[in-house]
Amino acid sequence: MNLDIRTMMVMISALCLMFSGLLILAGLHAGKIRGVQHWALGSLYIGLGLGFSYIIQQKSSGSAWVLVFGATLMAAGIGLQFNGIQAFKKGCSNGYIPWLLAGLVFIQSIWLVILHPDIHARVIANSVVFALSNAACAYALFIRIEQPLRTAYWFTGTSFAVVAIMFLARAIIVFLSPADTYTLYSQVTINPVSFFIGSIAQMCLAFGFVLMLNYRLAADLQKLAASDALTGALNRRSLEQEATRLSARCTRTGDTLALMMIDVDHFKSINDRYGHPAGDSVLKHLTAIAQKTIRSDDYFARYGGEEFCILLPSTLEKDAWLLADRLRQNYAEMAMKFNDEVLHSTVSIGVSDSLHAGVEFASLVAAADQAMYRAKQEGRNRVVLHSLCFNKATI
Ligand code: GH3
Ligand code: MG
Ligand code: MG
Repeated sequence: MNLDIRTMMVMISALCLMFSGLLILAGLHAGKIRGVQHWALGSLYIGLGLGFSYIIQQKSSGSAWVLVFGATLMAAGIGLQFNGIQAFKKGCSNGYIPWLLAGLVFIQSIWLVILHPDIHARVIANSVVFALSNAACAYALFIRIEQPLRTAYWFTGTSFAVVAIMFLARAIIVFLSPADTYTLYSQVTINPVSFFIGSIAQMCLAFGFVLMLNYRLAADLQKLAASDALTGALNRRSLEQEATRLSARCTRTGDTLALMMIDVDHFKSINDRYGHPAGDSVLKHLTAIAQKTIRSDDYFARYGGEEFCILLPSTLEKDAWLLADRLRQNYAEMAMKFNDEVLHSTVSIGVSDSLHAGVEFASLVAAADQAMYRAKQEGRNRVVLHSLCFNKATI
């Protein structure tokens, strides 16, 4: 391939420095999302490392230390990119990885540049380290992929995998080429090809990181718009969306749907006696207990004020009753501490299902509400089924 290595080196270096700026700017809007600053710094290090390597190529007898420093910076840059992926995915990272990689490349560069100069062995050794570290980045992206970010992870992971394969191929091809005549500019096709792939890959990596950030921000915003600010439960709007979807499915398939309406008993007197912050804590406490009690495919939402709803797909009243009574019992038994006070409260729950009340969300809510008010009338801290409501039967 007729590509000039020096030009490509400058190009990748400039691209990395530019992407570092882009990632810093993107990171300004990342909020609590971690990792973007690591990628920016990683890109900066790789750009500077390549820049140093370029400078040394320009001088016939330049300082070998610049070469050592350049390779070390590049290794630290890849380590930082790995850290960024960990921080982005898990919220924490192993701070020693960039140091470890930089240390390894520093020692092998000192050995092969200063103590026993051998460009052939140095290119092989560096390529192996860079191949492994890029493969580790690809692996970190490919495992435990969360759904809304799937495409962005695959894109970035594949870019890292391409770089890893390129470095591995470079290590093998250089290893097979004659050692005594080898220089960076020998007629080994892998050299220009690897620099060419490297520059494309750096572009893809920067796009990949920005794509990951973009997807995460969109997913976080969507989650925020779907949840209640105080409790973190689904809000009424998203409950209605889910209910409409489930109702349509029930109509289509004949499946059943149950709904629980939960109301905190004497909540106003909790507010009056202990203050609104205490009332807020009670709502969060109930949310925590309910989320632990329900099944993974049930939907727990704040309907409004101190009223909550649970939508239970493929469920009938009787089964919903078992879950509702377990929730009522758990809540009644778990007193909540607020400042130095111990607060006891209870809930009343009304239950309806699509078999008795119809499949529409509005009719399910109206029926469960009716049952819940019956539970209030009959003394609170109980569960009432809508279908038994008019027979005065409670369980
Ligand atoms: P009942 O047992 O019949 O349900 O009586 P209650 O006192 O629980 O019901 P009521 O409807 O009289 O009172 C509900 C109260 O909930 C009134 C309102 O100020 C309070 N409330 C609504 N939303 C919030 C909130 O987000 N935080 C707090 N602390 N209170 C709220
Ligand atoms: Mg109420
Ligand atoms: Mg109430």
